[in-house]
Amino acid sequence: MSHLSVAKFGGTSVANYEAMSACANIVVNDPNTRVVILSASAGVTNYLVELANGCSHDKRAEILSALKTIQFNIINQLQNPDAVTSQIEELLDQIEALAMSASLATSLALTDELISHGEMMSTLIFTQLLIEKNFPAQWVDIREIIATDSHFGKARPNDELTQQQSDNLLKPLIEEGKIIITQGFIGRDEEGKTTTLGRGGSDYSAALLAEVLHADDVLIWTDVPGIYTTDPRIVPNAQRIETISFNEAAEMATFGAKVLHPATLLPAVRSNIPVYVGSSKAPEQGGTWVTRDPQPRPTFRALALRRNQILLTLSNLNMLHAQGFLANVFSILAKYKISVDVITTSEVSIALTLDKTGSASSGADILSEDLLSELRQCSHVKVEEDLALIAIIGNNLHSQSGIAKKLFNTLSDHNIRLISCGASSNNVCTLVHNENANTIIKSLHSELFE
Ligand code: ADP
Ligand code: ASP
Ligand code: MG
Repeated sequence: MSHLSVAKFGGTSVANYEAMSACANIVVNDPNTRVVILSASAGVTNYLVELANGCSHDKRAEILSALKTIQFNIINQLQNPDAVTSQIEELLDQIEALAMSASLATSLALTDELISHGEMMSTLIFTQLLIEKNFPAQWVDIREIIATDSHFGKARPNDELTQQQSDNLLKPLIEEGKIIITQGFIGRDEEGKTTTLGRGGSDYSAALLAEVLHADDVLIWTDVPGIYTTDPRIVPNAQRIETISFNEAAEMATFGAKVLHPATLLPAVRSNIPVYVGSSKAPEQGGTWVTRDPQPRPTFRALALRRNQILLTLSNLNMLHAQGFLANVFSILAKYKISVDVITTSEVSIALTLDKTGSASSGADILSEDLLSELRQCSHVKVEEDLALIAIIGNNLHSQSGIAKKLFNTLSDHNIRLISCGASSNNVCTLVHNENANTIIKSLHSELFE
């Protein structure tokens, strides 16, 4: 088979008619792009999450009207709006009914069903836009292909079943010459219920499909022309990285660089599929290639920032020369499916950081009362919030001299809650107060990259 690219367009890329038209031009002008994954139009998923968390009658009406405006502003600029109007109206009616149910009782399964409607709407509209360009676009319900477990809000794919369904349903369409337009972010569990892969999960969907289709590359089209040394919204003179390794990009994503969903690189690494990141508004500006072994590998690659972090400090005087305390703590955390990020320990206490939103689609908090009371049975528990984790990402950071000096010089004016250095050769992390995070990122960037 000739070159096969799986392209993914994010929320701002499909936010309105002009943005969608730019994406359509990219697809039409690139014969390799034969599978297209879309996010919901910008803002739509946030509105749907709000509905899924339960709203008053008035709030529901307000959000529904906002959703309608976003979608119909696009539809009304199509040559033939009637071709999709009734389908979109039906989806909006379903949203209304599900939102009403959610106002009575919320549930994780209901949330995923409700928020999947954003991607359904954007893909139907985009397919019509391409059909109007006489392009052989074929809308596909991705839930027929991506099989997952039932971990609503952050479902894990069933690779084998996904492969099978892709071979049976998707491959034949591509071989027929159809250009597939489908949804990112969503899948289906064994019982036929809609699941989601976590906020920002469309990138992950694109990489999963690329893997099962043995694609040559994944093209992530977003609102920045590539991956930068740090978030260009915080540091306007951040520099674009031309090529970066899977490992470095995975570290960046894990530590909060929103430009790629953290799980995106898993399938890409496993199957050695290069990932490209570029701007759908300005494709001519070029972008970043993420590959297995690009050269050179600079000591300092990037800075990542993740807000909404919790610092949990557990202390217990009995920990002195005792065994089993850490094992106990971690088994409790595992029971609540909590993944710990950064850990520091002393003789009688352990401090660990947790990602508050955990990137589950519903945005639900991870620290439940049940969990806290179990932890309190074995230690004194202190919870600090409003923190941000800053990660310096690079290569051989543990074996370079002078790194700690640079870091401490830059941080000397700020109150630092925790530093973790040495566990990985690819990152050094520090936990700071949210309100200082941007200033610290700016000074670290100027010290390390400018
Ligand atoms: P999409 O909707 O296309 O998925 P996202 O908003 O999820 O887009 O991701 C793109 C955003 O990621 C950019 O607008 C930028 O603010 C942010 N970002 C964070 N870190 C970086 C980085 N290192 N390089 C580029 N963009 C970054
Ligand atoms: N629409 C989903 C979100 O906003 C998925 C995505 O955009 O990748 O999180
Ligand atoms: Mg994203």
